[in-house]
Amino acid sequence: MTPPPAGRRAVAGNPRNGRRYRRLGVAQKALGLPYWVCGRDIDPTLDARDRWSFTLDHAVPLSKGGSLLDPRSAHRRCNSARGNRLTVRQPRTSRRW
Ligand SMILES: [Zn+2]
Repeated sequence: MTPPPAGRRAVAGNPRNGRRYRRLGVAQKALGLPYWVCGRDIDPTLDARDRWSFTLDHAVPLSKGGSLLDPRSAHRRCNSARGNRLTVRQPRTSRRW
């Protein structure tokens, strides 16, 4: 077996556009879980443009190396507010004088 070349990704282009990703979202929505960050229920019948509608979130943002296979249910509103931040930004403390 040969490992894939370095720098090559298994999924080409934007992974969010894949059919597999859409299926993942449908399956996740069907679980009817509350959003793990704010703890509120998610109404699956809401319009996709509603602030409280379902959206697919990831414990670790994709841009930070997160996996598509670790989906979470989220509110559109809360998810976009959280953005790609993993943690609160650390202030610099190592400045030397
Ligand atoms: Zn929420």
